[in-house]
Amino acid sequence: MEIKFDEKGLVPAIIQDAETKNVLMLGYMNQEAFDKTLTTNKVTFYSRSKNRLWTKGEESGNFLELVSIKNDCDKDTLLIQTKPVGPTCHKGTDTCWAEENTENFGFLSTLENVITERVKNKDVQKSYVASLFAKGINKVAQKVGEEAVETVIEAMDNNDELFLYEAGDLLFHYLMLLQAKGFTLKDITAELRKRQK
Ligand code: AMP
Ligand code: ZN
Ligand code: ZN
Ligand code: ZN
Repeated sequence: MEIKFDEKGLVPAIIQDAETKNVLMLGYMNQEAFDKTLTTNKVTFYSRSKNRLWTKGEESGNFLELVSIKNDCDKDTLLIQTKPVGPTCHKGTDTCWAEENTENFGFLSTLENVITERVKNKDVQKSYVASLFAKGINKVAQKVGEEAVETVIEAMDNNDELFLYEAGDLLFHYLMLLQAKGFTLKDITAELRKRQK
């Protein structure tokens, strides 16, 4: 691979989680660090503060297992995809740009945030979410039951459109129930992860 090192013999390396695509950290490599990364399959930097090669994880055990290396358009910045063994930031988070680890469920996370915001604003005239919450947690739970039954009924019919509609209703009300009980999707995935293997 052709790499344009700077005048100090270094090239910046952006470290990305190959699975989540999160940007984890930024480090610098010289030719030796780059070569060592390839031979060991663990990301090694040249540490400007330590003035030596630094294999990420050498003390903590939180190595960055190499998945792929790409050079940018003008060959002066590396993008390195990795499989992190543990939290990448020495402060304990997955990435160096977050104070706490948050899981991102894409649009479902957006929806969770909308529900939180509606519940906070309590505008029961304008918001269905706010008005359902105002009726109390039992009403929210009851709605989940209703939507579940409707989903079951449509699952037994042969109408995909109606099934999708009710399955969507169910998921939406399920998110509201989680919120009402003080939980989030992250708590659910944590619970499910516990049961793996
Ligand atoms: P480690 O390579 O994970 O064993 O960490 C060794 C030392 O490198 C730590 O004590 C920190 O001083 C430093 N360090 C570790 N991870 C990072 C990081 N993501 N960004 C900057 N410095 C780090
Ligand atoms: Zn560039
Ligand atoms: Zn950090
Ligand atoms: Zn429905």
